Amino acid sequence: MRWKSLMIATMVAGGLGLAGCDSVSDQGAVSVQDHRSADIMEFHAGLMVLDSHLDTPAKFHQSGYKFDRKSSWAEDGSHVDLYRMNEGGLDGGFWVIYIPQGPLNEAAFQAVRNAALMRQTAIREFAARYNEHVELAFVRDDADRILSAGKKIVFQSMENAYPLGEDISLLETFYAGGLRMIGPVHFRNNQFADSATDIAPLHDGLSQFGEQLVRKANDLGLILDGSHASDDAVRDMLALSTTPIVLSHSGPKGIYDHPRNLPDGLLLDIAAAGGVIQVNAYGAYLEKRLPSEAREAALAGWMAQYGGDTSDFSLDQLAAMRAARAQLDAEYPAPRSSFETFMAHLLYMLELVGPDHVGIGSDWDGGGGVIGMDDVSQLPRITVALVEAGYSEGDIAKIWGGNLLRVLGDVEAARTSDLSSPNLVQ
Ligand SMILES: [Zn+2]
Repeated sequence: MRWKSLMIATMVAGGLGLAGCDSVSDQGAVSVQDHRSADIMEFHAGLMVLDSHLDTPAKFHQSGYKFDRKSSWAEDGSHVDLYRMNEGGLDGGFWVIYIPQGPLNEAAFQAVRNAALMRQTAIREFAARYNEHVELAFVRDDADRILSAGKKIVFQSMENAYPLGEDISLLETFYAGGLRMIGPVHFRNNQFADSATDIAPLHDGLSQFGEQLVRKANDLGLILDGSHASDDAVRDMLALSTTPIVLSHSGPKGIYDHPRNLPDGLLLDIAAAGGVIQVNAYGAYLEKRLPSEAREAALAGWMAQYGGDTSDFSLDQLAAMRAARAQLDAEYPAPRSSFETFMAHLLYMLELVGPDHVGIGSDWDGGGGVIGMDDVSQLPRITVALVEAGYSEGDIAKIWGGNLLRVLGDVEAARTSDLSSPNLVQ
């Protein structure tokens, strides 16, 4: 891992603004603060740093995105590429298969099933194409092996089980392709579960299909992800699952009362069952962010021109609408949360459930990121803040990946299926 340490060491003097802020002697000796920062950077570089919710696969087929071309959030709004992973010491994590939800009917299920299978194929193509730098991971022990080889770790997860339609056996196909974590639901209720953000519950938790999904995930050896599920659906998952559950990108209601955040009691129940809460850096769930008056006025103008029913818009009109919105967002940016607000959520969670049950799931390339942690290149800031908050090196290692891998190990140990996941492409 020496290569990784060296890349991060270059950040000490510059990017994070941590070094050199207190006294430097006349002889130019390095200050105590410099030494401390360098030590923390070295420590961060030696950790296995995983994020449980990388939405980057949605970009794989977008023109303009290349994993091996260094970009920036300011340039194109992206958060993850190989260079920024190296800068920030991010070793990989769970790369997401996400397809937006449509109607709950057979025709839609069929279309979306194909889209999800293609997305999994895209992840496998990505691993094959960049095989010098990344590798698919199928079991917990793969993580150490891949990291030792100097590569990025690619576990797969599915956000929203909607693409399974009403055929839960399809989960076997995704498992064989490498899927190791699944969340039943997203923004809206579906055939499996109620969403945290839909208007009213449909099933009061999990549906019968949802219960079958939990059993199938337990059988195959998939981590169950309660992010986006309603509190009742999470309670049902906890009650039914034979293995601990994870929230891949969620936060505490105790800091901000938003439907996507969970109440203390439920978070404690997840921890008591051995689970892990991976804390989110998605601004809209961190605090109520009020737009400036100028932005509100501009939005009102945009809505007056384009709002309402756009179903009879021509392609040119739709393009003009999007361009006008992009210009508005550039001129009057949406309010963003600060790194300190993200840390408040993380430290609250740590205080509540303890360092054995907390991780990081920032929703990179899915809307995550805060001022001062715009993309993955700035992840060492979290390590610095955790050290400053008094957490031990052992705790921080667990937070950055140890806890998540512990649950994967639990899930592997409890699996009852004999279906294997052949390592088809390396
Ligand atoms: Zn999400």
